[in-house]
Amino acid sequence: MSGAFREREPEGVVSPAERAAAELAATWSVGPDGVWAAPGRVNLIGEHVDYNGGRCLPMALTRVTAAAVRRRNDDRVRLSSDAPEAAPFEGRLTELGPGAVDGWAAYVAGTLWALREAGVDVPGMDVAVASDVPVGAGLSSSAALECAVALAAAGLAGRTDDPQLRHQVVQAAIRAENEVVGAGTGGMDQTVAMLAEEGAALLIDTRDFSTAPVRLRLADAGLVLVVIDTRVTHTLADGQYAQRRRDCEQAARELGLAQLGEATADDLERLTDPRLRARARHVVGEIGRVDRVVELVAAGRMAEIGPLLDASHASLRDDYEVSAVELDTVVAAATGAGALGARMTGGGFGGSAIALVPEAVVADVERAVVDACARRGLTTPATLVVTSGGAARRLS
Ligand code: ADP
Ligand code: MG
Repeated sequence: MSGAFREREPEGVVSPAERAAAELAATWSVGPDGVWAAPGRVNLIGEHVDYNGGRCLPMALTRVTAAAVRRRNDDRVRLSSDAPEAAPFEGRLTELGPGAVDGWAAYVAGTLWALREAGVDVPGMDVAVASDVPVGAGLSSSAALECAVALAAAGLAGRTDDPQLRHQVVQAAIRAENEVVGAGTGGMDQTVAMLAEEGAALLIDTRDFSTAPVRLRLADAGLVLVVIDTRVTHTLADGQYAQRRRDCEQAARELGLAQLGEATADDLERLTDPRLRARARHVVGEIGRVDRVVELVAAGRMAEIGPLLDASHASLRDDYEVSAVELDTVVAAATGAGALGARMTGGGFGGSAIALVPEAVVADVERAVVDACARRGLTTPATLVVTSGGAARRLS
């Protein structure tokens, strides 16, 4: 079975857009004025560099979160999701900021609050969301949620969908996640959700958040990207993420740099604390690997990025210490079964890995990761063949 075939939804599966509209009718008894969607993502390479002024290379998935919305004539905001355990939320437009909302609704309320702060005339609205991005799997369901709703709200406000709006949405979603949800995010996820191009990965330079599409010719090379969702999230993730950010800030301070991404290999020797030196070695090495991957992809030498993916994983495991036994297990099993390279993707401590796999051995890799986890008594992972999708958009 080819990857392209399996990426298509089987007959009879209802799309996120249809589910969102059904959720809007079921929970708030209204029909939609429109439906907007935003994609999840995988990061090919460039991990834990987006808060260091580094470069990263994510791609949007074809999987999306859809938001069906209906404008209201008052200042109320009502939110629901068809995800399990996501209770409906009701509040006023003026009560959506930091400290006012928690749980899943904080991602949405926070984004609407930040958009208003940025001067977008967000109206009262009823919102229902549905997604086929696995939630909490390191595939950025959170940015998909934020960006789908933000674009919808801007649409209801009558804003033209232009580059300026897209950048405003990115910033609003970043503010929501950092200031209202309280989960740190460097901005890679929101940027790729809003600016991705189908068929390409997106090179993001987080010094100024400039972007450039990098065409992926995976199929031409007979290659497939397989996402391996460990279906495990270790609860230390949030605290450890904040700790890594502090480590990087401290290392940059000691080197007299504004951001650690500016450091060179020579600078590393000047860091005396072994932990800070290891963190910095990851950041500097990872940014170099991104640049090398971009060169190889642009030259159509896709297969040669495999060893760089492996090196990225080793660096995240040993120097940055954000991997997990589940991630190390599936990465080793994937490469052992013929993947050209594999690495954890996203923040780490569980979540997902990606593997670059020749089409002929996709089934072997899928079997190998499941078997390896079974042998070690770990949760059975889910595998997903992914292709590059487009940015957030209006669907209807
Ligand atoms: P990731 O972004 O990698 O999926 P996060 O922990 O950043 O993981 O975000 C997951 C959280 O985002 C969920 O716990 C939930 O609060 C919220 N979320 C994402 N998608 C949805 C959805 N479709 N419905 C409700 N909440 C969602
Ligand atoms: Mg997230």
